Amino acid sequence: MLLIGLLLLIAGVILFLVARKQREESGVPAGKIIYSDTGRWRRNDRPLFSNRYRLTGKPDYLVRQGREIIPVEVKSTRLRGRRPYASHVMQLAAYCLLVEDVLGVRPSHGILKYADTTLRIEYDQALRGELLATLRAMRRASGRRDIPRSHDDPHRCRFCGYRDACDQALD
Ligand code: SF4
Repeated sequence: MLLIGLLLLIAGVILFLVARKQREESGVPAGKIIYSDTGRWRRNDRPLFSNRYRLTGKPDYLVRQGREIIPVEVKSTRLRGRRPYASHVMQLAAYCLLVEDVLGVRPSHGILKYADTTLRIEYDQALRGELLATLRAMRRASGRRDIPRSHDDPHRCRFCGYRDACDQALD
C-alpha cells in the first residue's frame, strides 16, 4: 500500500514537472488560477468598438474591480490542466485593448473562465505588443485568399464555427 502511494506520488510529481515544462516552452501565458465570485458578475450585452484599432468585440462580462474594468471571456470547454489556447488569450487581450481604448481604463488583466477552471491572464506589455502585431498581420493577410492553417489541432477544427466553409479543416 505504501509502495503504491509512493509510486502515485512520484507519478504526480513527474506529471506536474512535464506540464510545467510544456507551459514554459509554449510561450502562451499560462494564467494564474483564481477563485472568482461569479455571483457579482453582470452579463455584458454591449459590443465595444474601437475606431483607432479598427476592432470590435463583446466580452461576456465586464467586471468592475475598484477603479478597473476587467473583461471576462467564458468558454464551455474544460482545460484539464492544459494551457489556454493562444486564440483564447488573444481574444481576451483584444477585449482588454477595447476596454483600454473605449472605456478609457487600462485593465491589468483579463479573466478566462473555462468549465473547470478560471484563469487570470496578465495584460502586460508583452501580451499587448503580441496582440498589436497579430492585428497588423491579420490586416496584411485580409486581402489574401490562400491563408494557411496556423495549427495542427483536430479538436479545434471539430468545434470551429467556420468548419463548413473551411477547406483546411482537420478530421
Ligand atoms: S476548421 Fe478551418 S478555420 Fe476552423 S480551426 Fe480548423 S483550419 Fe481553422
